[in-house]
Amino acid sequence: MAKFRQLDSCLRETGLASDVQMHRPLPVPRRLLELVHDRDYHEAFARDRLDRQAQRRIGLPVTTPLVQRTFLAVGGSLLTARLALKHGLACHLAGGTHHAFPDYGSGFCIFNDLAICARTLLEQEGLTQIMVVDLDVHQGDATALIFQHEPRVFTFSAHAASNFPARKQSSDLDLPISDGVEDQEYLALIGNHLPDLLDRLNPQIVLYNAGVDPHRDDRLGRLALTDVGLLQRDHLVLDACLRRKIPVATVIGGGYDAMTPLVKRHALVFRAAADQARLHGL
Ligand SMILES: [Zn+2]
Repeated sequence: MAKFRQLDSCLRETGLASDVQMHRPLPVPRRLLELVHDRDYHEAFARDRLDRQAQRRIGLPVTTPLVQRTFLAVGGSLLTARLALKHGLACHLAGGTHHAFPDYGSGFCIFNDLAICARTLLEQEGLTQIMVVDLDVHQGDATALIFQHEPRVFTFSAHAASNFPARKQSSDLDLPISDGVEDQEYLALIGNHLPDLLDRLNPQIVLYNAGVDPHRDDRLGRLALTDVGLLQRDHLVLDACLRRKIPVATVIGGGYDAMTPLVKRHALVFRAAADQARLHGL
């Protein structure tokens, strides 16, 4: 997909990422995929045997490149989470597919990468407290449902209340936001909740969905953040984690606009990460 290639180019051209900082993921292994997703579902997707209704719900035509990209993107989120545990901070050029449920996909999401990461870290790395911070403008509904009975994974979603999905799930903390909210109000809301949550839970890693669709020009968002507001948001989240020595893995989440402004917007979290890494001596 052009967006991912262009984001890669943008990061290299602006000096935000160099060859030594770039890592190539492997496709997610089936065994880890099945920590979250039903075998019938992922096999039907990979073999292009989803029925028409299931495909319509996802909203993307199933093609061979899509299948390859989907397995690779989840592998990338896993790699990012492991790099974050090792180095303190790592950023993925894809990921954040939070509307993917165990047995079906929806809203352009096929596999729930952060849910697979969280389950893998619980199982393979022996972690006992993980936090998902989902600031994409849409509620992380599937992630909330997947972990509704899992106390070791805390789900936090701040989203436009009136936006997709119409039927919300219950995260451990939901912050529904009114249409049209601008930078200062939004930042105050996140700033009033996130630091206290981190102090209370002291998670061993934060998995951060830095969706850029709360932007005022986004076609599917209903909020009114500017580029500066999004950048400040990413600084706020990363600084709150890193000053508490909590590793953070970021994924890009959603964004819907013309390619050039969109790619620049997705690059904001990388800019915040580069600055925060320097500030915190990583
Ligand atoms: Zn979104």
